[in-house]
Amino acid sequence: MKYYSTNGKAAKATLEEAVVKGLAPDKGLYMPESIKQLPKSFYDTIETKSFHEIAYTVADAFFGEDVEAESLKQIVCDTLSFDVPAVKVKENIYSLELFHGPTLAFKDVGARFMSRLLGYFVRKEGAKEVNVLVATSGDTGSAVANGFLGVDGIQVFVLYPKGKVSPIQECQFTTLGKNITAIEVDGTFDDCQALVKNAFMDPELNAKHKLTSANSINVARFLPQSFYYFYAYAQMKKLEPGKEVVICVPSGNFGNITAGLFGKKMGLPVKRFIASNNSNDVFYEYLQTGQYNPRPSVQTLANAMDVGDPSNFARVLALYGQDIEAIRSDISGARFGDEEIAETIRRCYRETGYLLDPHGACGYGALEAGLKPGETGVFLETAHPTKFLEKVEEITGEQFEIPERLQAFMRGTKQSEPLSKEFGDFKSFLLQRLK
Ligand SMILES: *Cc1c(COP(=O)(O)O)cnc(C)c1O
Repeated sequence: MKYYSTNGKAAKATLEEAVVKGLAPDKGLYMPESIKQLPKSFYDTIETKSFHEIAYTVADAFFGEDVEAESLKQIVCDTLSFDVPAVKVKENIYSLELFHGPTLAFKDVGARFMSRLLGYFVRKEGAKEVNVLVATSGDTGSAVANGFLGVDGIQVFVLYPKGKVSPIQECQFTTLGKNITAIEVDGTFDDCQALVKNAFMDPELNAKHKLTSANSINVARFLPQSFYYFYAYAQMKKLEPGKEVVICVPSGNFGNITAGLFGKKMGLPVKRFIASNNSNDVFYEYLQTGQYNPRPSVQTLANAMDVGDPSNFARVLALYGQDIEAIRSDISGARFGDEEIAETIRRCYRETGYLLDPHGACGYGALEAGLKPGETGVFLETAHPTKFLEKVEEITGEQFEIPERLQAFMRGTKQSEPLSKEFGDFKSFLLQRLK
């Protein structure tokens, strides 16, 4: 399968090139050249299949031409080492719990898949060791570091701003060891990002070593997210037979929902999607007015959705041939300010006993307001609520326990390399450490 760039000015890439490059040379996003329909027989019996079987069928449609069957199966099974159950919250509303992975957020799925696919290409080519550089303000670093942990042939360097990530987040990428190196930069997140960008542009570093990023726009991070949409549908078919399924996605950069839209193009019988925004509502506005006006993001309770110019908007446009009416017929919008998010968490907990995280609250709230007769809704619960412990305790006035696997990170020993924000220092560090 070839991948084209949404900007249309770059040559088509192979899967391997698209995965290693991340962004196309014309700064566009890679899209698969064709989208395969899955046969009706697959959907007719989907509820009898396991998560791994469903995911492999979908993975084969995307990657089967480029990755041998046995290896692809292995990558899919290793990636999905945890369940993604649809849990009933109240009449007609289900939570698709995407937080049962190692870092308790849905980004585990994409990060684990991408790391294994990259590892596959490294081994197949007998290529040089690949060095992944990633700057993080918190969550990306933990998903990427844990995703790549122990994958042969890959070294990961996570750069984070000293004193500016939460203690839980810091533990998730500084206590791992093995092939993961955490670099504590005396500066801001922007300084970290600048160091990584400079490293990618440095001729000396790139001549001797293979450097890549694990950015969320990478096709190997975003496409695998479609697996759990198919599995959600399979579960709903059993739980609410005969009803039409609506899937609501708390959205920031729109990678997650775009993966669901790919599923719909492959024939997944989801009736429609709801994209739920926080106060960063450029997509919501676009659906209402037809105008796309990106602007700087504002900070909210659902901070992983604080995006003022969603990068995957270009993919949504490409998927629907720039036709806003086609987009509107598949996706409706919703928007939740911080007050409404807090009120939704409080009300849901009081009425049902189910604790939402601030992102999932945008999903649950949109389904409460937007389901029509005959429809049943699933929202994606994108992170475990105790990742936002202080906020949810303050909002509900109750105390909650942090799950054991999150606590385990906190007991580990922090190991990180202190570094200034000067590129010269970073470069000499890398020259010693890169393979
Ligand atoms: C990244 C993230 C989102 C937003 O996902 P997008 O793919 O950027 O739309 C929502 N919730 C949580 C917890 C996240 O980490």
